[in-house]
Amino acid sequence: MAREPRYRSLKGFRDLLPEQTGRWHRVEEAIRRVTGRYGFGEIRLPIAESTELFARGIGEATDVVGKEMYTFEDRSDPPVSITLRPELTAGAARAWIEHDVGKNEPLSRWYYLGPAFRYEQPQAGRYRQFTTFGVELIGSDRPEADVEVIALGNDLLGELGIERYRLEINSLGMPAERLRFREALVAFLEERREALSEESRRRIVSNPLRVLDSKEEADLEATAGAPEILSFLEEESRAHFERVATLLADAGVPFTVNPRLVRGLDYYTRTVFEFVGEDLGAQSALGGGGRYDGLIGEVGGKPTPATGFGFGVDRLVIALEAAAAAEESGEGVDLYLVGLDDEARRWVVRTAARLRGEGYRVLTDLQGRSMKAQMREANRRNARYAVIVGGNELAEQTAQVREMASSEQSSVPFADLSTWLRSGLS
Ligand code: AMP
Repeated sequence: MAREPRYRSLKGFRDLLPEQTGRWHRVEEAIRRVTGRYGFGEIRLPIAESTELFARGIGEATDVVGKEMYTFEDRSDPPVSITLRPELTAGAARAWIEHDVGKNEPLSRWYYLGPAFRYEQPQAGRYRQFTTFGVELIGSDRPEADVEVIALGNDLLGELGIERYRLEINSLGMPAERLRFREALVAFLEERREALSEESRRRIVSNPLRVLDSKEEADLEATAGAPEILSFLEEESRAHFERVATLLADAGVPFTVNPRLVRGLDYYTRTVFEFVGEDLGAQSALGGGGRYDGLIGEVGGKPTPATGFGFGVDRLVIALEAAAAAEESGEGVDLYLVGLDDEARRWVVRTAARLRGEGYRVLTDLQGRSMKAQMREANRRNARYAVIVGGNELAEQTAQVREMASSEQSSVPFADLSTWLRSGLS
């Protein structure tokens, strides 16, 4: 029987082994390509910030601040309360203010990629350490800016070949509109208090909008016919929302309006949106975000409009696995070089170095295995081609190149190998 390991990773914290990280690299590379196309630059922020920043920025009444933060006092005297970041927007706003970025550029296009921490009950797609990718577009209050970030998120899913998802949008209005809506909603909920789940009853006071988010059967029934935020919007917010919808259609981004979409964090104004995956079970939010015109003022900066989103990279990887169960090709290597004797193995070492230098993904045998075992390995590692070289091939300076999927074999002169591969692998 295998021995029980003495130490295990903490609950909700995961190891990713090389057979998993390949998919992560694919997601990370897609993120860099897509953000590059939109001219967004990467920011790297500290893992921890002052607790106060999150309490103010995200909102005391939210689940994230109220129940999920990893907060502790450090060793300073007097101790300082610090928190492992549960999301990156508050830190980005802090950095933007601290570096006085707005003085030098009227508009900042930022993206980030890195871990965040929330004390939640782990389940498939939900972890205590997870990775987020997000963008922040700071300095524009225009609907075009909302559409720019939504289109970017949509492009990322397209780039990854994830097709089974939908985009939902809504508007939460400006604070005064939201307040009036909130009052109407609280009155509605109070009337149905008895029918609501315990959690939702508690939320009537602390965070009534979240009741609309509840997936509990009782809550869904009790809140049918609840007031809708969209009918509380005044002219300007309504026009903003309609313009976002028009521009999304112009940009070719399909969406549906979900008047119950409220998002969990307090800082949103007007536009909110969520990308909902269809292969993810209960944890179906691939990513979401919206406009947060109040946040920068809230955490001590000059009030500045901004919009952005956060995606869960762990969930993108799960969605990718579902999508790529079909499409494995990107996961393998380009070539497996098979050397049949010691002389051929020298050729293999030389050629692997050269082809890797040209950017190909190349595997070779490092265990002195037979041709048959090497071919099996090429197959197992999803190599697109096996390049086979023995004494005859060396004498004729020509390799046997086998396309693994079709088993079709060609003789390719060593000198033509790069050109041949370029046409085959493009
Ligand atoms: P939020 O800031 O709550 O909207 O989160 C942004 C995105 O991060 C969500 O859409 C999820 O994809 C992802 N996410 C949030 N919490 C977790 C978690 N505990 N584990 C994995 N992914 C998460």
